[in-house]
Amino acid sequence: MSKIVVVGSASIDLTVISDKRPLAGETVIGKELLLSPGGKGANQAVAAARLGAEVAFVGAVGKDNYASEIIKNLKQNQVNTEYLCQLENAASGTAHITLAEGDNSIVVIPAANMQLTPAMIDAAFELIRSADIVMVQQEIPLVVIEYVSKICHDLGVKLLLNPAPIREIPASVINAASYITPNEHEAAALFPGLSLEDYLAQNPHKLIVTQGKNGALYHDGKEQVLVAGFKVSALDTTGAGDTFNAAFAVAIAEGKSFAESICFANAAAALSVQKLGAQGGMPYRNEVEKMLS
Ligand code: ATP
Repeated sequence: MSKIVVVGSASIDLTVISDKRPLAGETVIGKELLLSPGGKGANQAVAAARLGAEVAFVGAVGKDNYASEIIKNLKQNQVNTEYLCQLENAASGTAHITLAEGDNSIVVIPAANMQLTPAMIDAAFELIRSADIVMVQQEIPLVVIEYVSKICHDLGVKLLLNPAPIREIPASVINAASYITPNEHEAAALFPGLSLEDYLAQNPHKLIVTQGKNGALYHDGKEQVLVAGFKVSALDTTGAGDTFNAAFAVAIAEGKSFAESICFANAAAALSVQKLGAQGGMPYRNEVEKMLS
């Protein structure tokens, strides 16, 4: 089994379904409240585990009921939670989502996720040393991402940086990462002043720009390559990016080529958009194998 360590966020999504979005100062009666596990880190850890990797999660939650739900869900999905810290005086991360009038609006409270520290990474040092690949996203402190990228670089362990949500990233992190996986908007923000063609060409076999239903773009050193997405009828694209990242990491960890790994990731992500919810649609290994056969 390939070994993957995810250093990232874990949260609970609280989704209110309502006909109408309240205006400032207004109260409306909603229809339903849904609780579901989320956070980019936890999502990617769950997706990688379902695809057959041995996955450990490094992150922080509070000591509240949401933390119990987060831990239970990770364990149910065979993710190792030994290095998930439960902080005494913190709340677990939550995302407050209103689904109304055909669109969603979201307020994220990172809470414990932003209290992850380099010391907590030190505790997982041996785990990182023995990993085939480490995955990070940007819902945790930048100082932790910098620390993880330095450790991976020094140890020669592969690092996949999913630069979402977008924020400024130091060049040292960009350089240390083995793979960087922005969507189109994140890529444009990551390389200001450069064209898509230029930044892809400058980062061959490293930068993957996801293109929604069209698939994903990379540069092979000679030319730009589009690995076409799978044609499916999409029900809910939430978590497509997380599934893509996890599947790419699993395939790379297993020794598949760069292009094969993107194809595997496109297949897994296309399966994920056919069901509701971020984790709800994340496929198991046999489903992806079937799609690719
Ligand atoms: P999200 O934020 O919705 O999770 P994202 O913006 O990070 O996703 P996208 O480029 O939209 O990233 O999608 C990631 C990958 O998911 C794509 O590269 C593709 O493989 C797959 N995908 C997304 N939407 C579709 C779709 N409608 N049909 C098939 N595959 C899709």
